[in-house]
Amino acid sequence: MTPRVLGLDGKSYPAQNSPQIRARLFSRVHYLRHTECLSLRQILDRVESEHGVRRSVGWVSGVLRTPCTWCVQVAQNRTPEQQDGGPI
Ligand SMILES: [Zn+2]
Repeated sequence: MTPRVLGLDGKSYPAQNSPQIRARLFSRVHYLRHTECLSLRQILDRVESEHGVRRSVGWVSGVLRTPCTWCVQVAQNRTPEQQDGGPI
């Protein structure tokens, strides 16, 4: 059950900014990027369809700029096929 918050318009919305949701979205965005090599927009669409959360491209790129454990491992191992990392 997703926690909900009361919006300014009086309707209730999923609490998108709760720490649990943020952590889940963070790992989901990185997972999609690393395992499926999706573009930022594809990640946006996936997050929206799976979580009902609409975010901006800037949000996704911001999330990806924060390294996850996977990012750190890739950076340490310097996997040749992992050439991404520059600004998009
Ligand atoms: Zn990552």
